Amino acid sequence: MSTQAQIKITKKPRTIIPGTHFHRIRKTVQIVCFVIFVTLPLFDIMRIDLTRQRFYFFGAELWISEFSIVFLTLMFLWISIAAMAMIYGRFWCGYLCPQMIFSETANGIEKSIIRLINKKLPNAGPRLRRFAAAIVFGILLLPASVFVTFVFVSYFIPPFDLFHRLLSLDIRTAGGIVGASVTLVTFLDFALLRQRFCTAICPYGYLQNMLKDKHTLLVHFHDPNDECIKCSKCVRACPMGIDIRQSSHQLECTHCAECIDACSGILGKLGRQTVIQYAWGDSAATAAPKANWLHRIGLRDGKRIAVLVLLLVYATGLSIAIGLRQPVLLRIMPDRITLYSATADGKIHNSFRMLASNRGRLPATVSLSVADLPEAKIEGVEDRKLLEPGQSVQLQFDVVVPQSSLNPGINRMRILADVTPGKKGQQFSETFFAPQASTPEPGGKK
Ligand code: SF4
Ligand code: SF4
Repeated sequence: MSTQAQIKITKKPRTIIPGTHFHRIRKTVQIVCFVIFVTLPLFDIMRIDLTRQRFYFFGAELWISEFSIVFLTLMFLWISIAAMAMIYGRFWCGYLCPQMIFSETANGIEKSIIRLINKKLPNAGPRLRRFAAAIVFGILLLPASVFVTFVFVSYFIPPFDLFHRLLSLDIRTAGGIVGASVTLVTFLDFALLRQRFCTAICPYGYLQNMLKDKHTLLVHFHDPNDECIKCSKCVRACPMGIDIRQSSHQLECTHCAECIDACSGILGKLGRQTVIQYAWGDSAATAAPKANWLHRIGLRDGKRIAVLVLLLVYATGLSIAIGLRQPVLLRIMPDRITLYSATADGKIHNSFRMLASNRGRLPATVSLSVADLPEAKIEGVEDRKLLEPGQSVQLQFDVVVPQSSLNPGINRMRILADVTPGKKGQQFSETFFAPQASTPEPGGKK
């Protein structure tokens, strides 16, 4: 046998604490959601800039005037929320909602502080310990409220600007007053309300009740064989303080599944299955492994499939609208106060106005040229007009053509705009007025 010891590396099996299945899934999803909540406004993935009237969606800077894209985006988000409520019940509340995530975090921190104070001050009276715990909790909650408010307000005000206001402790301007007020509301919310906000104030719970039907996913107590041992662990585990055994349709229930974990934990020790479970409606039908996959993911009737098709239509429309969007918006209009003017060198001038808005994040240049009119030139605007990001300009320019190249009266032409950066050139069909058969006075106007 070799002197070298043969080291066998065996992987320790992962330990899963009974009755924590949904809790672990929920906490993982909540961490991901927290990261998304913070990332969306900071990286312009989704936010509304109220000061500049812009809407940011996955990096695209949309102007509020771009009604079609803003409309499609809002419809897409609205139908997504409605579809989620109809198919998966209060999945948003239990797994994704920032209010719930921060409320549960506040509950956890408060419990830890109380445990710590009880340990450190065993001889103090209960009132003093409660007071000390409240002070410590308040001290921790204040910076957390500032952070949450900062992220929340960043959805409406540029984060960089907000950060400067925060550093200068601005409570004099309108933006500073709004920030301070939201911080105070956030502090009071997580100090006093937390999950009570969900049942007393938030409209989504009421909305969900309107959207659910007999196929909506809910948490259901189903005990045909009378296996419940009446331990009330499910009630103690419920963050909303309700008893799921009374009804699956309680307004307070956020479908968080903590009661399922509690029940499977206690009955699992007795070798029994949980009597609380996720089910599609009151039928107590769980997602049977052999069921049609559409049924298993909740698409259990035509209504749900129709909603998803509608969602797909809006998503496609939105993708096309964003794909076709030009970063520089151009409009060219003829200035018909004067039909044409003639100069001594035998040239005819027609005046036009150009409105240009750079909706992109990079500087852009616009070059104009004329097609379909021989020898036509553009005068009065630079060869490559530079537009800074967010800049809008209105310019007057002339199209100039030697009269010898023109037909009397109306001539057709196209004004071509080469925009950099841009997906493709833009063109505008216009008319050019020339004098009728008689030769105009040099330098005269019509
Ligand atoms: S009843 Fe169950 S699912 Fe509903 S909120 Fe309470 S623990 Fe969550
Ligand atoms: S945890 Fe399960 S067994 Fe205990 S009371 Fe609730 S439903 Fe019954």
